[in-house]
Amino acid sequence: MQSPILRKLFLGFIQIHILHHAKKEPVFGTFMIDELKSHGYDISPGTLYPIFHKLEKAELLTMESRVVDGKIRKYYSITQKGDEILSQAKAKAKELTHEL
Ligand SMILES: [Zn+2]
Repeated sequence: MQSPILRKLFLGFIQIHILHHAKKEPVFGTFMIDELKSHGYDISPGTLYPIFHKLEKAELLTMESRVVDGKIRKYYSITQKGDEILSQAKAKAKELTHEL
């Protein structure tokens, strides 16, 4: 079982990671789960979707429904505000990585 502190830190990393990809192209749940898996994060839909909703509510992401293969898929794109937050988070992450 992961420590609560580590879990909280990883959730922060995951939020930055989502914003980073949502800036490049609209992202959806299973894409992000696979992407995070390739970076060593085993995240379930039950954990990921509330993060999407939180970022949407904070107006860092916008959601658009599209029909893919007869099913509705929710795509998330970064907003202007999200882009600004991402820039600040990246600067801090780079600074910290440099120090570590
Ligand atoms: Zn990535």
